[in-house]
Amino acid sequence: MAKLDIITLPDRKLRMKSMPVERVDDDLRRLMDSMLETMYAAPGIGLAGIQVNVPRRIVTIDVAKREDESAEPEPMFLINPEILSSSDERATAEEGCLSIPEYFAEVERAASVRVAYLDRDGKRQEIEADGVLAICLQHEIDHLDGKLFIDHISKLKRDMVIKKFAKQARLGPKPPVL
Ligand SMILES: [Zn+2]
Repeated sequence: MAKLDIITLPDRKLRMKSMPVERVDDDLRRLMDSMLETMYAAPGIGLAGIQVNVPRRIVTIDVAKREDESAEPEPMFLINPEILSSSDERATAEEGCLSIPEYFAEVERAASVRVAYLDRDGKRQEIEADGVLAICLQHEIDHLDGKLFIDHISKLKRDMVIKKFAKQARLGPKPPVL
C-alpha cells in the first residue's frame, strides 16, 4: 500500500466525470487499499478516486470513528455506486472536503438514501443509509460526477471559495511556519 497525493481546488480534474469500473481485480483492490490508507492519514471519512487522480467510479468510506474516536474501523469499498432512491426528508449538516482544505459549509441533502454498489469482491450490495453515512455517500458519489459540495451552497459563497483557492495556487505554496 502506498499513500497517494490528494488533488485540490483549483485542479480542473475535480470536475471530470469518472468512468465505471469494468473488472474488479487485484489491481483495483490494491488501489482502493491505498485510497483507504490515504483517507485515514488525511484524515477524512470518505475519498473518491478522482481525488487521487484516478477518474474511475470508486469510493472508500469509514464513518465509524466520526462519532467515537475509539471505535473499531469499519472500512467500506464502493465500486460503481449508484443512488437508487433518496428520501423527501432533507437534512442539513456541515461538510468539508479533502480537495477543498480548511473550508466548511452547511449543506442540505436527502436525509436518507438507498445505494447499490459492487463490494471489493465484485459482489452487488445494497444499503439504506441515514445520518453521517447518507451525507458521505451523497458527497462521494457527487465527486464521481465532477460535483463538489460547494455546488450545493450559494453562488456568492462558492465564487468566494473558488477565488480564494485560485489565488493561493497563483501565489504558490505557503512559506513554512517557523
Ligand atoms: Zn470531497
